[in-house]
Amino acid sequence: MDSAPAPLLTERKVLTELPGPRSLALHERRRAAVSHGLTQGFPVYIERAEGAILVDADGNQLLDLGSGIAVTSIGHAVPELVEAVSRQVADFTHTCFMVTPYEEYVAVCERLNELTPGDFAKTSALFNSGAEAVENAVKVARLATGRPAVVVFDHAYHGRTNLTMALTAKNMPYKDRFGPFAPEVYRVAMSYPYRDGLSGPEAAARAIAEIETQVGAHNVAALLIEPIQGEGGFVVPAEGFLPALADWARANGVVFVADEIQSGFCRTGDWFAVDHEGVVPDLVTTAKGLAGGMPLAGVTGRAELMNAVHEGGLGGTYGGNPVAAAAALATIETMRSRDLAGRARALGVTIRARFDELASECPAVGDVRGRGAMMALEFVRPGTTTPDAAAAKAVVAACQREGVVTLSCGTWGNVIRLLPPLVITDAQLADGLDVLASTIRAL
Ligand SMILES: *Cc1c(COP(=O)(O)O)cnc(C)c1O
Repeated sequence: MDSAPAPLLTERKVLTELPGPRSLALHERRRAAVSHGLTQGFPVYIERAEGAILVDADGNQLLDLGSGIAVTSIGHAVPELVEAVSRQVADFTHTCFMVTPYEEYVAVCERLNELTPGDFAKTSALFNSGAEAVENAVKVARLATGRPAVVVFDHAYHGRTNLTMALTAKNMPYKDRFGPFAPEVYRVAMSYPYRDGLSGPEAAARAIAEIETQVGAHNVAALLIEPIQGEGGFVVPAEGFLPALADWARANGVVFVADEIQSGFCRTGDWFAVDHEGVVPDLVTTAKGLAGGMPLAGVTGRAELMNAVHEGGLGGTYGGNPVAAAAALATIETMRSRDLAGRARALGVTIRARFDELASECPAVGDVRGRGAMMALEFVRPGTTTPDAAAAKAVVAACQREGVVTLSCGTWGNVIRLLPPLVITDAQLADGLDVLASTIRAL
């Protein structure tokens, strides 16, 4: 072990072709040992990371504009997180909260209850993954209402377990040939301003009419929605869409569940994306950015719903693991002390200005959308709104060759999304946006 402190990693530095020889050798081992069912995004094998820089096995320094899908929002290897996790590992790593509990779990629930919108009494429960949180939100809503149906939206992504596959919209790669799927899941139209041209209230009226005619409000336990869609293409619903749905849910005894797993925890410039329009969900699901990379997820909401469940009805061996809980407490404190919501808003202003410029120059860029540090470009065939997945794919690949990690998304795979660590410096962001712009201009 090297005892000298590692140098500060501040800039992108590409030393080899990407992936380099050591990464290629590791990739061979992976092909032999790891199921081929996992996506092979960008096979550079990471050895350490700091802030917004990833260092691979060949010593290349890559700029991370994806945060491992909106997870490492406070940056990689943040000292506060390293310290909190190390201390907790030394204290104890597991007891199972249902067997002998510990303070860290309770403290995370207290923070979630306080940070999520709504000034009513709330309680929380912790799980390991986003999909597990969504499943448990559905369990709570069904039990509390005594109703079976769950309403979800076009382009939705809620996970890969059996119930959450049913809740997710996109067939390939998430659902194809993995059925049969869980019943009583109904999909209605999402507000997608670039493609439907409807105002928020108009789009909500369309969705509500579908629910009332095809499901019946009195059969609906939960209306589950991502306030800004993640995997589905960073679709931002038109202003007024979410408030109208929340009002309808309240009037009809339907539990309004905001899936903030990707959009939550300062990503969009507020603690939660629903805060932007003052929407108050009955239940909120969280994961990803919550614990700085440790696996942790939560369901938080109205105490009368969350506490309606019989004792033993919720839980799991690892849910709210003490190390993950300690990580969440440090993450939340870091977000607060460094005002990372404010930082996300500032990043959003910079990114949007560059994206708007690109859209005016490049006819392949059909739409610029997002909020805060959750911004995207939708690629289309010039002069049409026909999705162009090949363009998005080419841009991601070109960025990778330059050592910039970006992600695509969207029902048609034609969207490039930016989810930088919120601690990314202005210089790092400018560098990443320069690379992105030049690859798009070269299309
Ligand atoms: C990632 C994601 C999930 C699933 O989370 P996992 O931790 O991968 O199970 C659910 N909902 C949304 C909105 C997500 O972005």
